[in-house]
Amino acid sequence: MYICRFAIKKRNHLHSRELFSNSVWINNQLQPATICYENGIITAIHFEKKVTAEDYGHAVIMPGVVDVHVHVNEPGRTEWEGFETATQAAAAGGTTTIIDMPLNASPVTTTLKAFEDKLAATSGKMHVNVGFYAGLIPGNVAHLKAMLQAGVVGVKCFLTHSGIDEFPNVTEKELDEAMPIIAQYNAPLLAHCELYDTEVACGFEEHPTSYPHYLASRPKQWENDAIALMIRKCREHNCPVHIVHVASAEALALIEAAKKEGLPITAETCTQYIYFNAEDIPDARCIYKCAPPIREKANNEQLKKALLSGVLDFIATDHSPAPPGIKEMESGNLKKAWGGIAGIQFLLSGSWTAVKDIMTLEQFIPLVTSKPAAFIKAEKKGAIAIGNDADIVIWHPEATTTIKDEDVWFRYKISPYIGQNLYGTVSETIVNGETVYQNNLIKNKNKGKWLLQK
Ligand SMILES: [Zn+2]
Repeated sequence: MYICRFAIKKRNHLHSRELFSNSVWINNQLQPATICYENGIITAIHFEKKVTAEDYGHAVIMPGVVDVHVHVNEPGRTEWEGFETATQAAAAGGTTTIIDMPLNASPVTTTLKAFEDKLAATSGKMHVNVGFYAGLIPGNVAHLKAMLQAGVVGVKCFLTHSGIDEFPNVTEKELDEAMPIIAQYNAPLLAHCELYDTEVACGFEEHPTSYPHYLASRPKQWENDAIALMIRKCREHNCPVHIVHVASAEALALIEAAKKEGLPITAETCTQYIYFNAEDIPDARCIYKCAPPIREKANNEQLKKALLSGVLDFIATDHSPAPPGIKEMESGNLKKAWGGIAGIQFLLSGSWTAVKDIMTLEQFIPLVTSKPAAFIKAEKKGAIAIGNDADIVIWHPEATTTIKDEDVWFRYKISPYIGQNLYGTVSETIVNGETVYQNNLIKNKNKGKWLLQK
């Protein structure tokens, strides 16, 4: 009899589990609870330790992290990064859902055909859940409807050169054409906000390895002006607008006023803008180059406070890696180097380390779970609740690790987080009820699903 019961338990082990900890994130608080899940769905919650449950002690058990800003680059630039490596890195960092940007894959996701190519490219390589954005570029407005109907969760545009020639920036003309269509679907228009007429005379040309010169070449004013433009367009068309990677603290007052006015506007910042400070960035180290640039400490402290006050809605990574040559690792030429930071694995630990001095874990957790999940309207994600998907991370907020090359799961070991001492070690990541990452190993591959908007 005993042997028989054991055999049944063993067979069902992968598909049905009971997890207990003294710190489970339920109903916006950390509390002792047992979570039961079966076939990928959370089926029961008990506010006590069930005798049959696996006991995780004081580890935090919470919904899997949601990263709504990732550049996977496949198909077409898989040598930069692909779904195989990017989604393993996500899982290793506690992230269970990512949303992929319409660039830097080739083709860029600006037609239905290109979107179908991207869906096909994920086959057999989705180790976490993946959703997608469509791209808005001059001349493709007629393609937006088809992509929105096919399930993209939003539309992305640039107001300045994107770095990818096939993905040119839009002007007010294209915004006026596209925003009424996007508004019909109640989808967000995501905007890279930097706006400029002429190059800034800052001496960057003569000092291409100098970080202060790079910083001066992309001033806050570019961001402030672009954000002001997007707020105006949001008001004109009543189209949801999302400001990606806010780095200029000067723009926070504009966003706050727009929200108070009741405009459908949201805004994110990224881990790198709150973790690193310009003052500490050495010259000729292109791993720190991203756009907008990482700014001064005083500026970045205000970004953190804006996450606390709700002016900024959540944190993402803007993971945007490139091979060593394109990143100008040898020359250190910041002018030539690809602008983008590889950080998909460090949304949870990097962000927590950056903000733990000014906020509690209870204030932090929604910034990487429920808030980004609400932004992409993923109703079954971002919270531990009966009926939700069993996307779960088990982690230790007070444990620290110094990140080494061999800890990195994304394609190239090129990242400013390598060498950093980060709080928050992930012991297990569960995607749709299957353990995908545990104790430094990827297991049960390809358990992710597409996240398509209905
Ligand atoms: Zn980006």
